[in-house]
Amino acid sequence: MLTKAPRGTKDLFGNEVLEWRRVEQKILDVCKDFGFQEIRTPIFEHTDLFQRGVGETTDIVQKEMYTFEDKGGRSITLKPEGTAGVARAYIEHNMQAEAQPTKLFYLIPAFRYERPQAGRMRQFHQFGIEMFGSSEATADAEVISLASILLKRLGIINVELHINSLGGPECRKKYNEVLKAYLNEHLAEFCSTCQERYEKNPLRVLDCKTEKCQALVSQAPSILDTLGEECKNHFEQLQSLLTEMNIPFVVDPNIVRGLDYYTRTVFEFISNDIGSQGTVCGGGRYDKLVEECGGKPTPAVGFAIGLERLLMVMEAEQGAYIHEPKRDLFIGAIGDTAIKTAHALVYELRKVGISAEGDHLNRSVRAQMKYANKIGATYSMILGEEELQTGKATLKNMINGEQEDLTLEQLVMVMQEKVK
Ligand code: ATP
Ligand code: MG
Repeated sequence: MLTKAPRGTKDLFGNEVLEWRRVEQKILDVCKDFGFQEIRTPIFEHTDLFQRGVGETTDIVQKEMYTFEDKGGRSITLKPEGTAGVARAYIEHNMQAEAQPTKLFYLIPAFRYERPQAGRMRQFHQFGIEMFGSSEATADAEVISLASILLKRLGIINVELHINSLGGPECRKKYNEVLKAYLNEHLAEFCSTCQERYEKNPLRVLDCKTEKCQALVSQAPSILDTLGEECKNHFEQLQSLLTEMNIPFVVDPNIVRGLDYYTRTVFEFISNDIGSQGTVCGGGRYDKLVEECGGKPTPAVGFAIGLERLLMVMEAEQGAYIHEPKRDLFIGAIGDTAIKTAHALVYELRKVGISAEGDHLNRSVRAQMKYANKIGATYSMILGEEELQTGKATLKNMINGEQEDLTLEQLVMVMQEKVK
């Protein structure tokens, strides 16, 4: 127990964490280009927020949340997703008083008590964006285009964008009736979970992952046929914007998304490379959420990308990314005085931004040179009795073997020239 991380969690270190950093940097870059600013909200919130914001009938609220009572008797929940917290912050800090739209992004760990499998963890990570204050289809297109560019910049090719519209509350109500009528005819053939969904939230049946239900659902009447005039126009506008932007998509009436808060546009980027957990990015419009959480009616649109899945897709398509270790200079030493001098020099170099390294294991000179190689040092230098006496040492280029003599006083300046 003590030496094993909890089920559904994972340690990130070494090469892998460097790859995460690289992906996170691309995320920061794309958000900057699109004018989205970072928001960091607490890792836990009042349980009510998710009950309201995510929805009572969702799998998340019904069975997946990490909820506990704190010592003050409050019900607290670890974030199962990012949007509700950001919507809460948007209201709390009166962001609608600023120039709209408000464009925010987050990078967070999220927690869901699910059965762990490939691409499904209990602690996972999301990159998400939210755009508050615009109901125009241009906002939907901007959000989708950001995801599309990010995937492109990460070199991901084999993903497909699926879009759908769930309409507003009116169209939704109408469709629920049409859908229920269809489901009712086949109810016995659906899985037991879907039979429950039929009562509480029939739309979710379209989202069922079992093959039997998917086959039945493919025959169901399409939500797109019950859209009212305005919702239909909105969806058509989005499609023509995406076409204008040269972003390929397919209209897929079975995309409904797992959360209750969506209205109108919903979309997913789906990969075929990582098996059944293929949705890398899911998002859409949620015009009722801010109101639901206690704010003024505010339209909003956003998405979340699961970072674990994103990295799985990248590895499946491109192979593992190897980050070679690197240091500018290794300074080895032999003898007590030389060791002191070496570590002081390492410190001087680090102060001016040169990644220097010394020996901490009292190795032999041979072993120190081996270590310098292992950590990818570009240059190396060994200090001993003689170097201390003459105040001179040899700097070796580990890549081409070239050597040069210099005084220890010159070292910082010479290295600064070299790594410039
Ligand atoms: P799924 O249908 O796969 O359960 P979801 O609809 O629950 O997904 P969202 O709540 O929309 O997913 O979350 C957005 C993204 O976060 C997903 O597309 C996925 O990439 C990622 N994600 C969701 N749950 C997990 C999890 N348990 N482990 C890893 N990634 C996850
Ligand atoms: Mg889920």
